[in-house]
Amino acid sequence: MTEPDAGSDAMSMRARIRREGEAWKLEAYKNMITAGHKAQAFFVVTRFPEAGERAMGAVMVDADSPGVSVSKVHKKMGLRGVPEAEVAFDDVLVPDADILLEGDAEGRAMRTILSQFNHERLGNSAMCVGVAAGALRESIRYAQERTVGGKRIIDLQGIGWKLAEMSTKVEAARLMVWRAASKADMAGHDQPTPALEIAQAKWYANVVAQEVANEAIQIHGGYGYTREFPVERMFRDVRGLAIGAGTIEIQKNLIARLLDRGSK
Ligand SMILES: Cc1cc2nc3c(=O)[nH]c(=O)nc-3n(C[C@H](O)[C@H](O)[C@H](O)COP(=O)(O)OP(=O)(O)OC[C@H]3O[C@@H](n4cnc5c(N)ncnc54)[C@H](O)[C@@H]3O)c2cc1C
Repeated sequence: MTEPDAGSDAMSMRARIRREGEAWKLEAYKNMITAGHKAQAFFVVTRFPEAGERAMGAVMVDADSPGVSVSKVHKKMGLRGVPEAEVAFDDVLVPDADILLEGDAEGRAMRTILSQFNHERLGNSAMCVGVAAGALRESIRYAQERTVGGKRIIDLQGIGWKLAEMSTKVEAARLMVWRAASKADMAGHDQPTPALEIAQAKWYANVVAQEVANEAIQIHGGYGYTREFPVERMFRDVRGLAIGAGTIEIQKNLIARLLDRGSK
């Protein structure tokens, strides 16, 4: 979906697909594609200009198709196990069978695509709760073991209060993710996903995970800043989760829009 000049604002997308005889021809340049350098096939969101200037849909493209190339693999701050890539699609032929959602002037296909982000956002929120819970667990263990001036640091009120706040935030974020997930579960496959609860859960879990991972480094002191303890990695990993799947700011925009439309 993402392009160098179209991230939060997907409607600025330049990718285009046009009819070319029996097939279609795709021209696109995509950025920040997770594991794009290893993909065997791509789900590409593109404009269908022949159906209208705002018509957008999605096609499947085999990575071996002529015209597909990986032009860059980004080096990242965190989440280093799975890099993001830039992928070019130069006049790639796409057969009819691989047009998954044909773009339409009414925007039905694009609404279907955007609604799928709710699933990704819920997974992203759950990852943030998991990392925050891990950072809390590491912090409790360290605070119980580390002594300063003959005292365990967990017995220092300043550290104990940090842990108290961290654990409360983790539980609040966890409950929000559970609430959104259970509402999505109850809605079933043919019903819209609960966009408001999911956006709230993602925003909150993104913020809490960053705060908790940051405090975890503080509790670990100098060791927290080294690669010998896992909390520095947690801090780097959650930073990216607050950007992917729609940034924190975009979640807040969505929440405000849904409130304006009467969601509670
Ligand atoms: C780890 C990771 C994995 C990713 N994986 C994928 C992937 O697999 N596929 C894919 O397509 N994309 C992927 N992305 C891209 C991601 O979706 C975009 O980076 C994200 O949507 C933001 O777009 P942008 O980077 O262009 O930032 P921009 O849209 O340029 O935003 C820059 C800043 O401005 C803020 N901003 C923008 N618009 C508004 C607004 N209206 N109101 C307030 N603030 C605003 C943003 O929140 C941000 O802080 C991934 C990103 C990351 C970090």
